[in-house]
Amino acid sequence: MVIETQSPKETFNVGKKLGEHAIPGQVFTLTGDLGVGKTVFTQGLAKGLGIEETVNSPTFTIVQEYDGGRLPFYHFDVYRIGDAEEMEEIGFDDYILGDGVSLIEWADLIREILPEKRTEILIEKDLEQGFDYRRITIHEPDQS
Ligand code: ADP
Ligand code: MG
Repeated sequence: MVIETQSPKETFNVGKKLGEHAIPGQVFTLTGDLGVGKTVFTQGLAKGLGIEETVNSPTFTIVQEYDGGRLPFYHFDVYRIGDAEEMEEIGFDDYILGDGVSLIEWADLIREILPEKRTEILIEKDLEQGFDYRRITIHEPDQS
């Protein structure tokens, strides 16, 4: 599915919708260049889960946990991760196998340890369509 947005607010609302419908154990992966709107999207998703706390990129930790919503929310930013082994050390498997909702920014860096069942979100700019245009592609890989 492809959704096109023209403002941060619209991207926030796409995230919010997904957050409202997220189920226990759901894993979202989020891919896209710096400044494309990954954090805006994540803030919307958190809002959709009922989280009122401010959500920012977890700069100093790999994972930030939010417990104030309908389901626990685990926000990963693996941009600074050395390798997939480092993810095991922080208990990645326990997070993604739990009942919370996980969202992993820069997920392509840990592709080999991602669960097969996941919702992939790709956000892209297209400057020909304007500075605030974003194309959001939502894809669930075939598990068979
Ligand atoms: P990332 O986390 O991917 O590095 P951010 O979410 O921090 O990116 O920042 C995205 C920036 O792009 C913000 O300054 C936001 O206002 C701006 N922006 C402009 N148009 C959009 C849009 N359609 N969707 C999301 N962000 C947008
Ligand atoms: Mg960010």
